[in-house]
Amino acid sequence: MPTYGVKPTRIEKSKQNCYISDYQFIPSQKGRQLVMWRQYTYAQDHNKRRYYCSKQKMGCKARLKLGIDGSIESVGGIHAHPPPVYVKTPSGNMVRVS
Ligand SMILES: [Zn+2]
Repeated sequence: MPTYGVKPTRIEKSKQNCYISDYQFIPSQKGRQLVMWRQYTYAQDHNKRRYYCSKQKMGCKARLKLGIDGSIESVGGIHAHPPPVYVKTPSGNMVRVS
């Protein structure tokens, strides 16, 4: 069951200014840019720094916000589905296989 009403969790940045940036941009099949973070993919909202789970249409409320510096500023929600499976092609592209 999807989990609703979960408040966004602000990620604390470390004292060393080591920003969380363990995500990558991948092009979607529709030509839009997706953010992949911890196996899940997020599609850009009208607000350019906000990203919503690619499975939002399936009722998933998970989301992610990037800071001005490009680091992940906050994440919210819990995914109501397993992560999509991507494989990396020899040319370095990420392709969704499920
Ligand atoms: Zn999701």
